[in-house]
Amino acid sequence: MNNPDQLTPIRVRFAPSPTGYLHVGGARTALFNYLLARSTGGKFLLRIEDTDLERSTPEMVQAILDGLTWLGLSWDGEPIFQSENRPAHVAAANHLLEEGKAYRCFCSKEILDAKREKAEQEGRAYRYDGTCRNLNAEEIESRILKGEASVVRFKTPTEGVTRFKDIVRKQVDVTNSEIDDFVILRSDGSPVYQLAVVVDDMAMEITHIIRGEDHISNTPKQILLYLALGGKPPKFGHVPLILGADGKRLSKRHGATSVLAFSERGILPEAMFNFLALLGWSAKDNQEFYQPEEIIARFQPSGFNNTGAVFDEDKLQWVNARHIRQLDIQRLKQTVRPYFIQNDLGDIYDAAGEDFNTKALLLLQEKMRTLLEFVSFGKYFWVDPVAYSDEALERYFSDPATLHNLEAIASGLNDCAVFESSPIEGVIRETAETLNVKAAVLIHPVRVALTGFHVSPSLFDMMAVLGKETCLRRLQNAVVYLKK
Ligand code: GLU
Repeated sequence: MNNPDQLTPIRVRFAPSPTGYLHVGGARTALFNYLLARSTGGKFLLRIEDTDLERSTPEMVQAILDGLTWLGLSWDGEPIFQSENRPAHVAAANHLLEEGKAYRCFCSKEILDAKREKAEQEGRAYRYDGTCRNLNAEEIESRILKGEASVVRFKTPTEGVTRFKDIVRKQVDVTNSEIDDFVILRSDGSPVYQLAVVVDDMAMEITHIIRGEDHISNTPKQILLYLALGGKPPKFGHVPLILGADGKRLSKRHGATSVLAFSERGILPEAMFNFLALLGWSAKDNQEFYQPEEIIARFQPSGFNNTGAVFDEDKLQWVNARHIRQLDIQRLKQTVRPYFIQNDLGDIYDAAGEDFNTKALLLLQEKMRTLLEFVSFGKYFWVDPVAYSDEALERYFSDPATLHNLEAIASGLNDCAVFESSPIEGVIRETAETLNVKAAVLIHPVRVALTGFHVSPSLFDMMAVLGKETCLRRLQNAVVYLKK
């Protein structure tokens, strides 16, 4: 994408609070900012908003970095820790005080709570009433000397309109008189989010901010702070929140929301990248399957859409299956190995050898929707089934003739000199003729005997990969089972 309205390179940031894992919503915010940077040759910076020291932990910081790294969202430079910038935040508040753009407020919590309650009872929206907005210098001085606690409030203009052209939606206009004289420094001297974020974004020379629409009410306040501090506000874009299939905001109730949990479940990072990019953005080419670099190449802010972004688990699996099919065999082998290890099959997987694993994975690759399925479903390539699925039993093991049919197949296969796909098929079709049944009557129970399931990749190809000994052993196990 070229960048006609911008002479300086785009600088964006992802600014997570490390009070939780990198969840799907945060990952999508990071991704959109990343795309804006990478598609324009700009910078994608990372700022950890760790000012809530009680709730921020180093483990969560690491989990966020791990989540971004897994998704392939590499950031430029070192991460910035917001807590380290506190002196700059306080200095900015003092500067605003000196310039008369902010003021000390001594109203106690009790007084403010009572006023808020009254407003609620009267059905009015509560806003600070400006009691301390025009205190004179002596009074302020003497109250401070008396040790009265105070906060610093921003002196919001009482007139005019704060306006911005949102990158995602249309123009947003907010009448300044609707905006509170919001607090910028708490009574303990700590800066609030609105101030910290603006001071840091100015210092980092951020040009664009893409974030969730839950931040839209912060934006006018932040623009006013920019202007009061002599800065040029960045361009803002607010993307619709991600909803679950039930139309409610995506949360833990909907299952996994941390991106790394998707990795554990066998989603490929490029599939997650692809899927998240389409939650609120499209290239308008009716395509749904892209590699990350294609998305970067096609990315245009005009592709943002303002309609609800629904997290559709089936679609994620569909996209993942397509990405799995694109993997070259070397990467597939490496990528599935940890899932075998996690499921205590690492040694068996390694012992099976390169050649066998290649053949087995190539057959499974066409069918699997997640990397975990290579193990949870496809493990029959490596270990004999220990049970048959209920559906398989009901559909294909309930006919009393099955026992005899499987014995006939086993004996035919035993005589099969070249154990390859087409001779194997020949044996099964000849046996069907001899028994005077359709081939399908044999094929399905054989599949169940060999895999434990009623579906699998192409049976004859699979049998060739499993080898004669394994096939005969499993048929024999099924015969024993059916005799019971
Ligand atoms: N730390 C804030 C959050 O996680 C950042 C919001 C912003 O982008 O300004 O929501």
